[in-house]
Amino acid sequence: MTDTMTKPAPINHWLGGKLTPGTSGRSAKVFNPATGEVQGLVDLASRAEVDAAVSAATQTARSWRTVPLSRRAEIMFRFRALLDARRDDLARILTREHGKVHADALGEIARGIENVDFACGIPNLLKGGYSEGASTGVDVYSIQQPLGVVAGITPFNFPAMVPLWMIANALACGNAFILKPSEKDPSASLFIAELLQQAGLPDGVFTVIHGDKEAVDALLEHPDIAAVSFVGSTPIARYIYQKGTEHGKRVQALGGAKNHMLVLPDADVNMAADAAVSAAYGSAGERCMAISVVLAVGDVGDGLVDAIASRLPALKVGPGSDAANEMGPLISREHRDRVAGYIGSAADQGATVVVDGRAQTFDGNGFFLGVSLLDHVTPEMDAYRDEIFGPVLCVVRVPTYEAGLKLINDNEFGNGTAIFTRDGGAARQFQFDCQVGMVGINVPIPVPVAYYSFGGWKASLFGDTHMYGPDGIKFYTRTKVITSRWPDPATSRVDLGFPQNR
Ligand code: NAD
Repeated sequence: MTDTMTKPAPINHWLGGKLTPGTSGRSAKVFNPATGEVQGLVDLASRAEVDAAVSAATQTARSWRTVPLSRRAEIMFRFRALLDARRDDLARILTREHGKVHADALGEIARGIENVDFACGIPNLLKGGYSEGASTGVDVYSIQQPLGVVAGITPFNFPAMVPLWMIANALACGNAFILKPSEKDPSASLFIAELLQQAGLPDGVFTVIHGDKEAVDALLEHPDIAAVSFVGSTPIARYIYQKGTEHGKRVQALGGAKNHMLVLPDADVNMAADAAVSAAYGSAGERCMAISVVLAVGDVGDGLVDAIASRLPALKVGPGSDAANEMGPLISREHRDRVAGYIGSAADQGATVVVDGRAQTFDGNGFFLGVSLLDHVTPEMDAYRDEIFGPVLCVVRVPTYEAGLKLINDNEFGNGTAIFTRDGGAARQFQFDCQVGMVGINVPIPVPVAYYSFGGWKASLFGDTHMYGPDGIKFYTRTKVITSRWPDPATSRVDLGFPQNR
């Protein structure tokens, strides 16, 4: 191989509508997780570069907010058509940098496009209220105005979908948007930037600034950033929320998860096993809505564990570019080793390792790990307590519905949960009882459709508004209420009394 073939490609910022090399002199390696090779070097912005990007965005935000709703909708429709036409190209970028298999990448893109569909309806979404004759000769109405410049900070596990959760609504509402994508798989954001430009978005309205803590802190502290949307791990989400709000920003910060699937004794065991396997190991378990704990109620445990275990030898793990594979590698070598560590610690702490993913071998230096199934896990074990974020499924045996519910409600996270049962009354009781933001009834990954909103409870979300859907529109706009009257000047007089609605 020649030098030019092995040299990692530079991955630059997107400023003013074009790729712009960074000036900080700092960069981070971007790996191909399927091979372990460094394939890119992403620029890491300095505080000064972030400040310059925000200044530029502040200028463009002023003109973008004056663009008519019909034109903004038209741009969203065009963006949607371009995304649709380029699904395969974007999916290949996701597979190359994130590692997920092509079919899974296409699924992520489809769920991202739903958010653009929703934003195409922006003229309808921004309709305000109007009260004629609120008082004599007085009309009252409300309008929703953009915030100005808003920022999004996104995680590695959905490099296209999570940015689209934010971008579509934020732009359609009339804001300029600055995206700080994960430095582990940053290229999807640049592809999206190009499509937005082709769709007719004016240059400078959408910015991509790559970086690490330095860039994030600069965004959180900048006085001209009005709001920050964050998705990532809980410790960072908590930090973003605290620092952002301290600096006067509106913040929504979505964090980590530990999603439990409660399987009642009356459930169809094969259906529950199919669902558990799909939801635990899809995308190598690197989904915030992945099922990581199965709570087997009563006597369902033995049959369920057997049914899950029997499905695992058939799962095909390998490079995501090979259409035969169902699960790709993990994002990094360090993360793979950390996940593998939980299998050992669970065994040491008394769990039964039914299937050990460490035993599966792979060619080359990719960050692969086979799937693992741990049975007789207890709440004290590290594998239960921590968010593993890998292809490891824990089964906890519980005697009753109440005992299972207690574990769900005692957990620090409250992102997603699911119940598997044939009893409608039990399912309805569960939806009432559980302290979790997104609930599936015989649905293992209940990610809401784009016209609802996405958000967990407890340590899975800091802030008051959920992401995308109606909450997204609320988050990216500020309401103004106008009280107007057009009296005959001849009737005008001074009146120091408090205005009354008569
Ligand atoms: P992460 O928290 O490490 O990183 C997220 C973002 O924060 C990245 O852009 C990163 O550059 C930035 N960041 C990292 N460390 C920082 C620091 N010290 N200061 C400032 N910024 C920092 O998360 P990740 O590993 O990329 O993603 C996986 C996590 O995201 C998991 O915990 C997963 O559950 C969570 N997640 C949650 C949701 C949700 O909707 N709740 C969705 C997807 C992922």
